[in-house]
Amino acid sequence: MAEWIQGTVTDNIHWTENLYSLKIDADIDSFVAGQFTSLALEIDGERIARPYSFLSAPGQNPLEFFFYTATGGVLSNAMLELQAGDPIWLKKKANGFFTLSEVPDSRDLWMFGTGTGIAPFFSILKTAEPWERFERVILVHGVRANADLRYQELIENIQRDRPEQLLFKAFVTREEVPGTYHGRIPAAIADGKLEEVCGLELSPENSQIMLCGNPDMVKDTVEILKERGFKKNRRRTPGQVTVENYW
Ligand SMILES: Cc1cc2nc3c(=O)[nH]c(=O)nc-3n(C[C@H](O)[C@H](O)[C@H](O)COP(=O)(O)OP(=O)(O)OC[C@H]3O[C@@H](n4cnc5c(N)ncnc54)[C@H](O)[C@@H]3O)c2cc1C
Repeated sequence: MAEWIQGTVTDNIHWTENLYSLKIDADIDSFVAGQFTSLALEIDGERIARPYSFLSAPGQNPLEFFFYTATGGVLSNAMLELQAGDPIWLKKKANGFFTLSEVPDSRDLWMFGTGTGIAPFFSILKTAEPWERFERVILVHGVRANADLRYQELIENIQRDRPEQLLFKAFVTREEVPGTYHGRIPAAIADGKLEEVCGLELSPENSQIMLCGNPDMVKDTVEILKERGFKKNRRRTPGQVTVENYW
């Protein structure tokens, strides 16, 4: 069992009714971009813990996490109330294999995240590795509403640094929003819309794909990609599709 340590909340940013970010000062071990840790609070005398992806890059201080308040969700709703100075438990050692070291080389790297499932991609994009290993990086964020499209400034900053390499596309399911596309990510792959708006083809030869967040998006996208010849990426049998399900 990895060791628990106590961190201190330095900021709690409420973006919308359901979305917030915590900044936490804590002396954790170094981690790899794309990994997660566990966060925990004592609730009614019990330590309630859940896994959360780092949004901050390795070495960045304070640590940063991006949350959705799940309906009736015990921990996500409790953490929403935290204020600067409050304590929070974290695992000292990070976990997980949703990292670029697990992703084979290719020309393009596609990152599909729904909701807060975009967090590990920000951590990865803040490091040098994607820019050194891939010609193009395509970040695709699927959300319900325009207000859920957070961290636009961070994306713009990365785009300014990598104008030739980073492409960002947003898909919104419940609203028509100028500058974004209406619908779900799997549907946009199935009908060719995503490739059309990106001006790039998804192919097993040239594309590595990382999927993170809602398990329905992950499952439906994997199924569509399999029909097009993609394979799940596993340590023993490398493929092109690497996944992280949030529930
Ligand atoms: C590897 C990993 C990394 C994760 N990273 C994050 C992260 O960075 N940010 C984050 O918000 N969550 C993340 N999660 C989900 C997180 O661990 C919790 O499940 C979530 O915060 C709900 O906990 P809870 O105690 O509030 O709700 P619970 O009472 O445990 O209810 C869980 C239910 O909430 C829903 N749910 C869970 N997570 C989400 C979500 N992100 N968006 C929408 N609905 C959700 C599902 O329907 C799930 O059945 C991650 C999960 C995994 C496995």
